[in-house]
Formats: sequence, structure tokens, C-alpha cells
Amino acid sequence: MKVNIPVHKNEEYQAEVTDLTYEGNGVVKIADFPVFVPNALPGEKVTVRVTKVARHFAWGRVMEWQTKSPDRVDVKDKKYIQTGIAPLGHLKYAAQLQFKQHQIKELLEKAHLDDIEVLPTMGMDRPYHYRNKAQVPVKMVRGQLQTGFYKRGSHTLVPIEDFYIQDPQIDKAIVVVRDLLRKYHVTPYDEQTGKGVIRTVMVRRGYYSHEVMVVLVTNTKRLPMAKQIVDGIVAGVPELKSIVQNINEKKTNRLLGNRDRTLWGDDEIHDQLLGIDFAISPLSFYQVNPQQTERLYQTAIDNAGLDGNQTVIDAYCGIGTISLAVAKHAKQVYGVEIVPAAIEDAKHNAKRNGIQNAKFVVGKAEEQFAKWQAAGLKPDVVIVDPPRKGLAESLIEATGKMAPRKVIYVSCNPATLVRDIQRFGEQGYHVVKPIQPVDQFPQTTHVESVTVLECTEK
Ligand code: SAH
Repeated sequence: MKVNIPVHKNEEYQAEVTDLTYEGNGVVKIADFPVFVPNALPGEKVTVRVTKVARHFAWGRVMEWQTKSPDRVDVKDKKYIQTGIAPLGHLKYAAQLQFKQHQIKELLEKAHLDDIEVLPTMGMDRPYHYRNKAQVPVKMVRGQLQTGFYKRGSHTLVPIEDFYIQDPQIDKAIVVVRDLLRKYHVTPYDEQTGKGVIRTVMVRRGYYSHEVMVVLVTNTKRLPMAKQIVDGIVAGVPELKSIVQNINEKKTNRLLGNRDRTLWGDDEIHDQLLGIDFAISPLSFYQVNPQQTERLYQTAIDNAGLDGNQTVIDAYCGIGTISLAVAKHAKQVYGVEIVPAAIEDAKHNAKRNGIQNAKFVVGKAEEQFAKWQAAGLKPDVVIVDPPRKGLAESLIEATGKMAPRKVIYVSCNPATLVRDIQRFGEQGYHVVKPIQPVDQFPQTTHVESVTVLECTEK
């Protein structure tokens, strides 16, 4: 069947932006045909040049604005939009928070769940400089070693010194490392030839502890001029606790290899979340926006209604952030997580914090739920914090059979959240409170939220 596509590549059209997709692109319709336009906001009248045409939609670029949105922030530096560091950086923060709240609301309405309310998104007072971790590629750009970020959908490095959403102390440490790598002529890794030494610089800094870890990811076992570089980092980076070399000899897009060698100081740094002390090594998972993670998880815990007598399951528990915070308010906590190293960290952190009522299991949450159910476990509360794809149907069914009083759903994807709310409905669980979105990643399109479900039929 021949479809009639009303737009053509390289042609320009005048149109009004009518919508913003969940990826943060403006939408204009030319004879009902949708054109996605980065950096365009609803209400703006623009001249769009079509850059790419597909069967059911096209991409375009704004050539000129006839009118601008009152919600627009004039971003001085296009780098943040180009690279995807801040895909919503051109939208005022208050409008970003609304955008996230409305996304959940719209999806609920489409699913005929209009009666479920969504609260305003809990935002940050200062919605930038929040990331406690940076991983920046190192590349040769026009004959000079540079650190920065890739252009969206490419491996073209855009040199950047101020990363806008990272802890500024981390940005400074990266510049110190970059200058030392230049000074001692360390060659950046070349993805084409597989040659060169330094691939990535990773820096982590504890939000409360201020402890800094610098990780040099190399393509070789040997780091030339290691002593001079280490001395330079020690002299140039305040509150430094650890310098680690991570060796990644594979031709891969994965940033980190499996081998660490501590070059200076400790093997790990520490930080606190919800009053629990966590050890963080180069390969550990650790939440990147600790302030908002605390608010998100505290919201989840506050809604669990715990008084020290409950049995709680924390599914998709990662390094046990929620489990360990819950443990002091519960009788017993069970955590399940698929990544073995994360469970090792969870156990280690439980021990270091003197927590004895948290048990951690490696496995697929859906399989472990079936086992717990078969073993007759009767949790009072089930907390889930799944990845973007949401919950397996079998997990929801097993939850129904274990019949907890409450399910607390921490979601990072409104689409799967809404789908799963419908499936919980079939098990007799319904949303009993307005959903609370919490902005974990300001300037980006990520939407996190907490939903409370209770069994209202048994
Ligand atoms: N609350 C956690 C983070 C949860 S993110 C913390 O603070 O550490 C979602 C987690 O689900 C990730 O750690 C991921 O490894 C894990 N995961 C993904 N699929 C899974 C599955 N099928 N079963 C169990 N865990 C899974």
C-alpha cells in the first residue's frame, strides 16, 4: 500500500508546536503527519526544516522561531541539548515538573483510570549540579586530548568542562585529570583501531561524606607515567580518598572492565542514604541523585505503615537501599535482585550497619516470588522498584496469592506503571492514594513516582 507522505526532506514548513513527547521532542503536524522537532515547545510558532522522513512520522529542525513559549529557558549552551545531558534544559523547571505529572495523568486517562489522582511532582530547590557520579569518555579531538560527552546517538565527542547537572567538584576533578593526561602525553583509546591507553574517567563524590574517588579506565594493563599522574591528582583534587585503575581491554561499548587496581588510597569510598552507611567501589551501583532518592524512598517507606512488626519484601532491591532503610521499622525484610554483585554489596552494607533482620537473595524477582509464595511466606508489605520494563505478570499474580496488605510501587516508567496498576486490579489491589511523582533527574525526561496499592476486596 502506498502511503501519502505530505512532507519532504529538506523542505521547510511553518507550523505550531502542539505537543511534547515523553522524550522531550516538540510535535508539529503537517497535514496530520507528525514531525518530531527537538528543542521546540508547545505553543511555539516555528519554521521547521524536515531532516528525515519515515513511514509514519518525520524528524525536523527549527530554523526560526516566530513566537517562543513563556516556558522556554534560553539555554546559552546548545551542548546540553545536543548531547542529551539535559534534554529538557530548554524548559523552565516548574514546567518540567508539570510535564512529568501530566505524563502519568495522561497515561492513566488513556487506560480509563481517570479517578486516580497524581500529585504535583516533588522537585529540587536547585535542580542542577546534583549527580554524584560522572563517567566521561576521553578522545582525541583535532589533535588534542578532550573529555566531554557524546552527541546524541553518536560517538562524536563534544568537549565539555561544566556538565551542568554534575556536582561541580566532580567537574573540577575531571579537568585536573584531563590536564595531567595531556601533560604526560597519555594517548586516548581509539575505538576504530583499538589502540591507545585511556578510555574513560569516572569520578564519584559522596554527597554527605564529600569523599572523592577517581577511576582511570584504561585499555592497557600499564598506565604510563602512573606515578606522576597519581601525584598530580593527589595534589589537585581536594578530599580525595581513592584512585583506582580499571582495566577494560575489550572492544566494547561497556565503560568498565572487571579488574580494578587501587593506585592510591582506599579501595572504596563511603556515603550515607537514609541514615545508612554505604561502601561504594568502582563497579558498585549507587543512586546518582542522593537528595531526591532519599525523598523518593522516604515517600515509599512512609506509605508502608510500618511499626516494627511487619514482614516486608523489597523486590528489585539493588544494593539494598530500601531494604536497609526499612529494616529498622520492620520485623523482617527480604530483598531480591538479579545482579549478584549488588546482593554482595547489600549483604556487606547490612553487616557494616549492624542490620540483622534483612535477608538478600540473588535471582529473578518473578521466580523468587513464586518460591516465597510456595514456601508460605506472608509479607505484610511488598515494595517493588523495577527497571523500565515494569513487573512480570507472574510476579503480580504471586503477590496476589501472598496477599500483602499493601503494595508500594516505585516506578521509573509511567507506561509500565499504568499497565501494572491494571494488572494489580485483577488481583483485587487498587490505588488508594494520589500517585506521588518525585523528580530524580531534573533537566531530563525521566519520571519516577510512588504508588500505594491496597487489597480492597479480600
Ligand atoms: N532500589 C535499588 C535500585 C532498583 S533499580 C537500589 O537503590 O539499589 C532496579 C533493579 O532491578 C536493578 O538493580 C536491576 O539489576 C534489577 N533487576 C532487573 N531485572 C530484574 C529481575 N527480573 N529480577 C530481579 N531484579 C531485577
